Amino acid sequence: MKHLILGNGPAGVVAAETLRRAAPQDEIVLVGNEDSPPYSRMAIPYLLEENIDEKGTWLRKQPGHFEQLRIRELRGRAVALDTEKQRMLFFDGHFEDYDRMLIATGSHPVRPPIPGVDLPEVQTCWTLEDARAIAQHAQPGARVLQLGAGFIGCIIMEALAKRGVALTVVEMGDRMVPRMMTPKAGGMIKSWVESKGVKVVTSAGVSRIDRGTDAPLTVTLSTGDKLDCELVIVAAGVAPNVAFLEGTGVHVAKGVLVDDRLETSVKGIFAAGDVAEAPDLFTGAHLVAAIQPNAADQARVAALNMAGRNTRLNGVLAINVLDTLGLISTSFGQWWGEKAEAGGEGVEHVDEARSRYLSLQFKGDVMIGATSIGLTEHVGALRGLIHGQVKLGPWKARLLAAPLQFVDAYVATSQPMALAR
Ligand SMILES: Cc1cc2nc3c(=O)[nH]c(=O)nc-3n(C[C@H](O)[C@H](O)[C@H](O)COP(=O)(O)OP(=O)(O)OC[C@H]3O[C@@H](n4cnc5c(N)ncnc54)[C@H](O)[C@@H]3O)c2cc1C
Repeated sequence: MKHLILGNGPAGVVAAETLRRAAPQDEIVLVGNEDSPPYSRMAIPYLLEENIDEKGTWLRKQPGHFEQLRIRELRGRAVALDTEKQRMLFFDGHFEDYDRMLIATGSHPVRPPIPGVDLPEVQTCWTLEDARAIAQHAQPGARVLQLGAGFIGCIIMEALAKRGVALTVVEMGDRMVPRMMTPKAGGMIKSWVESKGVKVVTSAGVSRIDRGTDAPLTVTLSTGDKLDCELVIVAAGVAPNVAFLEGTGVHVAKGVLVDDRLETSVKGIFAAGDVAEAPDLFTGAHLVAAIQPNAADQARVAALNMAGRNTRLNGVLAINVLDTLGLISTSFGQWWGEKAEAGGEGVEHVDEARSRYLSLQFKGDVMIGATSIGLTEHVGALRGLIHGQVKLGPWKARLLAAPLQFVDAYVATSQPMALAR
């Protein structure tokens, strides 16, 4: 049996290693199309902070790791899939056949169609190659404009601040992380970031980027303001790497659609990680959960099924954990809540003076989502309550009155469940 794994990020690597354990005799080919050994994108901020070197980003550091596991590494870009002949065409013209295939190609950052967006000092922050270019331009004192204050935008802010740049963030939404946190939380993160010396412009976009006279770049905002800078970082969303699936029977929506076994619409082809859209824990609707732990979990399940087992993923739970210039924020599950007519109810605890915030969302007596700021301890209990779909009974009313008691609620409701199990 030959397994072709497309993509050697966390999903691809975990899948290859899981397959080797589950199917000792099978052939495994692991494909990547970047110029470095398999690495973790989430280590890029630490690289920019110069806490680690490039080797520190590598997923497996022991020399000969993949060779010892008899995992064949292949450098190449997949360009066209033939599901009838069960083979993949690569950019260099060669074909690779397979019995089972895993699509773990992740996603790529989107550059909005803005005049000047392709100038060399306009960078995305996604690959090691991007990080090298950013490190070159983001010197102490450099003026940097960051387009987008979503998950990636917030994560890289700390690294940029530590490099001593003068940072301006421009975000189309009315707050920071608008697709990940409640309006109140996004506003509190904005205030925090501003108090650390970052300029934040919300409800505004970048209209054009030109060569400047007093600086390498002049950026014109939708507000009409013009800003000179040395570097623009585009963090304005991502799109899955699925071009090679065009014209095949593999169904793609936002990402590659998979069932709870991580199998696509074509038997024998699986998908995992940032490229995959798997059923959500609560709604059952398909969801891309673009975080590394999710990539690893999905990869394990996909690999076991590729090896002939029958393993299911118990629904994806959206989890976001952010450290924005030292302010820790989290959101879980359906953090935006449910409509009242569908049984939704929620509560907010706001303590702006201490930069603490909690929003709990319920459907019936089950907590379906939460957003927190500054609660660094015990947020695992929030996740546990939501992921476990714990029936809160009388604890729901108590939490509506005193949301910070969620740890007590977790202990009281989950221990009897654990004992019963
Ligand atoms: C700056 C940054 C910070 C982040 N911080 C965090 C964090 O703190 N916590 C967290 O959980 N997540 C974080 N993430 C997200 C996390 O990195 C991703 O969720 C994770 O990398 C997903 O793994 P993956 O294997 O699905 O995809 P990827 O890591 O993107 O790997 C996909 C692989 O597929 C290859 N590939 C793509 N197309 C092709 C093709 N056509 N042919 C062959 N190979 C192909 C790519 O080269 C790549 O090697 C961060 C991401 C970035 C960019």
